[in-house]
Amino acid sequence: MNNEEMRLPIEGVQTFEKVFIGGEWIAPRGGRLIESIDPATEEVWTRVAESGLEEVDLAVAAARQAMQGPWARYFTASQRGEYLRRFALLLRRDAERIAHLESRDNGKPLHDTEGEISKAADWLDFFAGGADKLNGSQIPVRPDALAFTRREPIGVVAAILPWNSPIMMAAWKLGPALAAGNAIILKPAEQTPVSALQLGRLAQEAGLPPGVVNVLPGYGPVAGAALTTHPGVNKVAFTGDWRTAQKIMQAASGSLKRCTFECGGKSPFIVFEDADLDKALVVGLNSAFRSTGQSCSIASRIFVQRPIYERFASAFAERAKAIRVGNPLDAHTHIGPQTSADQLAKTQRYIGLGLESGARLIAGGGRPPGLDRGYFVEPTVFADVRNDSCLAQEEVFGPVIAMLPFDDEAEAVSLANDSNYGLVAAVWTQDIKRAHRVAAAVEAGLVCVNTYGATHWMLPYGGFKLSGIGRENSLESLLEYTEVKSVFVDLSDQRPADRFAD
Ligand code: ADP
Repeated sequence: MNNEEMRLPIEGVQTFEKVFIGGEWIAPRGGRLIESIDPATEEVWTRVAESGLEEVDLAVAAARQAMQGPWARYFTASQRGEYLRRFALLLRRDAERIAHLESRDNGKPLHDTEGEISKAADWLDFFAGGADKLNGSQIPVRPDALAFTRREPIGVVAAILPWNSPIMMAAWKLGPALAAGNAIILKPAEQTPVSALQLGRLAQEAGLPPGVVNVLPGYGPVAGAALTTHPGVNKVAFTGDWRTAQKIMQAASGSLKRCTFECGGKSPFIVFEDADLDKALVVGLNSAFRSTGQSCSIASRIFVQRPIYERFASAFAERAKAIRVGNPLDAHTHIGPQTSADQLAKTQRYIGLGLESGARLIAGGGRPPGLDRGYFVEPTVFADVRNDSCLAQEEVFGPVIAMLPFDDEAEAVSLANDSNYGLVAAVWTQDIKRAHRVAAAVEAGLVCVNTYGATHWMLPYGGFKLSGIGRENSLESLLEYTEVKSVFVDLSDQRPADRFAD
């Protein structure tokens, strides 16, 4: 099916009526459609086929069949890499069009979605190169034996994706899963189902064998849950809320599926008085408010050493007030709306809790003037937040920042670690010894010194504590998509000791 066929207008709204299973575009048996709302207008902008239990069964069967075919049996690792490279090339070719769809679906400004798609292609390229670097090892158990390990694909991977960065999160799973020789089923979030279908189209164009990539838009509790209990799925790779991860872990325990989870954070951004404050301010603002706060890695708790606290807080608030919130398709826009009505309500609830807690509102808190429709909210900064309050402990997933003072290094570390999350942290100081001490002491999967957002395909990424299990990115993450098999070959001429001979 080509792209135009996928876009049949129904009642003036573009519709994606089919899902991608076993290399074919199939209309789900249930005939239901998911309505996707444009968060800037609050109107349905597209309808997407909803996968039900039958489609889950079909997709798992197709993926299992692919694991019996040439993909698993004859393709070399380098050939798998070539497919991924081609996939990346096609993604770059279509970046502008897909970015447009993603901005309508998700509400991020075009420059952000374009940037993410270009990065997603970089990620695929990295894993393309990683495919033929996935080695087992030879283990010197005995001189007269050959012992070695093989890194084999796990089998069928269900990738359950979030709505905040749909294409990026898909690439983070697609790249290593295919490089390691698995088949994959992408289940995009119901709020943002469109871009994953585009990946299905590109997988087809890249010539991947049928069933290696399948795309099932559908609801979490239906298609998502069915994938996590399905006996034919070997691994679940999930990004989303930790409470959903908890459910998935329970569901997946029935067949002991392998699971990797990336579940958000409440990341501390620690600014010591000797830091380069101009730089910390610029990076802090970007780290706090990019993606309208809808990123698991945003710097949502900003700790500032007391002598510079007031100055830093008021400069931060002034800059936050100047951020241009608006329509994502407008090139002038800095940040768009929240992706859904639910997320807007959640953000507003936390603003209310912040006010009730007695924290000092120093920027935002309301709806941006002039934007009457759409899930818009002002970049919001609370100062003097207590670290044990909801605002400092719970993930808002909106542009709401908690700012807190601290006196010394020990207190900064203790406040930073007093959290159930542990995804990213930043330390800002000119003192190299202190930077290393704090980097070692903070409980987080990624610590940035005098920078932020150092997420890179070469760096392992994932969380301590409630922030997740396992790591994505880097060659290490390839291992998370493999089973290790030890092979032991006896090369000796010795007769075996016969314990039962007499
Ligand atoms: P949020 O609460 O922010 O929407 P979720 O963690 O619920 O985030 O969603 C992330 C992904 O998990 C989405 O693709 C969603 O459809 C899926 N999901 C939600 N509930 C379940 C579930 N019970 N089993 C499997 N997947 C689920």
